[in-house]
Amino acid sequence: MRRKLVVGNWKMHGSLGRNRELLEAIKPALQGLEGRVEVAVCPSYLHLADTIAALAGSHVGIGAQDLFGLGEGAMTGEVSASMLADAGVGFVIVGHSERRGRLGETDARAADKFAAAREAGLVPILCVGETRSERNAGETETVVLRQLDAVIDNQGIAAMDKAVLAYEPVWAIGSGDPATPQQAQAVHALLRERLKQRGGDIADGIRILHGGSVNAANAGELFAQPDIDGGLVGGASLKAREFITICASAGS
Ligand code: PEP
Repeated sequence: MRRKLVVGNWKMHGSLGRNRELLEAIKPALQGLEGRVEVAVCPSYLHLADTIAALAGSHVGIGAQDLFGLGEGAMTGEVSASMLADAGVGFVIVGHSERRGRLGETDARAADKFAAAREAGLVPILCVGETRSERNAGETETVVLRQLDAVIDNQGIAAMDKAVLAYEPVWAIGSGDPATPQQAQAVHALLRERLKQRGGDIADGIRILHGGSVNAANAGELFAQPDIDGGLVGGASLKAREFITICASAGS
């Protein structure tokens, strides 16, 4: 039985004051869901320390939105996996489509980041997803399996143990146009099948989150699909009520 996980991706939003307000608003409600659903939030690097302090004593986990794919060293402006782990971070998003699409992050770079995260004891949340034009061209399967295989080829199937996968159709992210539960389930099942084919005993245990305009109104139906194990939530994670409702849907 996979325990559902909801991760809020705050992206490049927030300020110390606004984050504290949001955390104060969500903390008590999320406390009530302890044991039923796992929840984490991913603030910017700059806001990690304050968020960790604000969540001390709660069961809400902390994730970073990115990391550098090599160990500590001469790389101006970057943050290593070991720095994140040392600061108290548990999860890290790897290969988000905004980084793949707008910053040219390749499958190989995502694989390096995934490896670095695991080595430091972080849980990588590996994002895969197709663009609108790739979907229209019938390339969804090819794209998401290529993105997944790039990590398995590099790291081996055993490396997926304890990792989290997130299927986020790029066309659904921030667009208000979510995948239907059927569209989403089809790709989630495909990904799980691939993990099985690649020899993974872990296929049944790995959590595959769904992302892309998940909100309070659609989370329940999405999370009811057999291969959807929670959500990676952007915009709606910045609104206390929405986020609490989404987390509650995962815990029901
Ligand atoms: C995301 O940030 O990964 C995301 C899915 O964003 P949104 O929920 O805003 O579509």
